[in-house]
Amino acid sequence: MERPKNPTATTTTAQATTTTQATTTTQATTSGTLTITRPDDMHVHLRDDDALLAVAPHTARQFARAIVMPNLKPPITTAEQALAYRSRIVRALGPSSATFEPLMTLYLTDRTEPAEIKRAKATGRIYGAKLYPAGATTHSDAGVTSIARIGGVLETMAEEGLPLLIHGEATDPDVDVFDREAVFIERTLAPLIEERPNLKVVLEHITTAQAVDFVLAAPPNVAATITAHHLLYDRNALFRGGLRPHYYCLPVLKRHRHRQALLRAIATGSSKFFLGTDSAPHPQSQKEASCGCAGCYTAHAAIELYAEAFEAVSALDKLDAFASAHGANFYGLSRNQGTLTLRREAHTVPNSFPLGPSNQGSLIPLRAGETLGWRVDTTLTGHPSHARYRSA
Ligand SMILES: [Zn+2]
Repeated sequence: MERPKNPTATTTTAQATTTTQATTTTQATTSGTLTITRPDDMHVHLRDDDALLAVAPHTARQFARAIVMPNLKPPITTAEQALAYRSRIVRALGPSSATFEPLMTLYLTDRTEPAEIKRAKATGRIYGAKLYPAGATTHSDAGVTSIARIGGVLETMAEEGLPLLIHGEATDPDVDVFDREAVFIERTLAPLIEERPNLKVVLEHITTAQAVDFVLAAPPNVAATITAHHLLYDRNALFRGGLRPHYYCLPVLKRHRHRQALLRAIATGSSKFFLGTDSAPHPQSQKEASCGCAGCYTAHAAIELYAEAFEAVSALDKLDAFASAHGANFYGLSRNQGTLTLRREAHTVPNSFPLGPSNQGSLIPLRAGETLGWRVDTTLTGHPSHARYRSA
């Protein structure tokens, strides 16, 4: 595990950055604070029921908007289900929902109809559709068995300007778990991009040098999210002194050189990469089990963890655009009003969070019981802008 040895030993020198879309100036001061435009999480799992009540406030505390993944059980496959889920999220947040907007998604299956895509777009509340290759990850059994089966759906998505969000891993059992992303890119993604130049595609939670290179070389309709945990940890973290289930996620953590490629990607400031935590809560009992679930929980300290990663490569000046501009621009959303301020202040992450009665237990966050060097100032300013498409 790598993290700054002494977070107070370095001085923040990141300069103010602006983009053509910016409505708020980003400032990193030398006094140990960093102020960014209020960010968006472009990939999060909020779950449902008691777990939703437990985790949604963590996301809403930091982010103005979030692209909410649809892999509930059963999955969100229709516009109607997505709107109902949205209402449950708003209800779970109570008054905090005034400053947070959930951006909903559909879960694609072999049976998804093009008409459902049109219905989804027409709601004005649904911002993408997720492609889970069948069997790739948590609750993905109902996913798409072959891209060829959803040709009509993809055509309609391109026409409607609805982005395709991809869990990019090959599911052929013969492919080594550490090679699944690279193989997916070669066998499935490259031909798809070639075939559908008008389809907006987000390769979610990229983990490899191959993915970084592919996205950088791809046309502007292709972008990627990067998680904080894939920036901060490589696969050694899974086995440090014993098996560490809370570092197990999919796509799995990769070799050191792949993590370095992700860090180089964020340090370029390329608009093709943006923030998506893939924060994925599971009860402790399902993580610490003979067949444990995949997923790291990072929503409790998402922006702090990203700040640590950006600082490690002297790129704190790139955090604002990564967290609040690149994703909004790609999705055709206006940028958020208001700011979020991080303070350089060492503090300890709680050992666990309660997950509510029906989940019977606790949620173990990433870095439980360990120290973080940045802390979000709890006094937020401003409100999320109303999420809307620019004329596309
Ligand atoms: Zn995910």
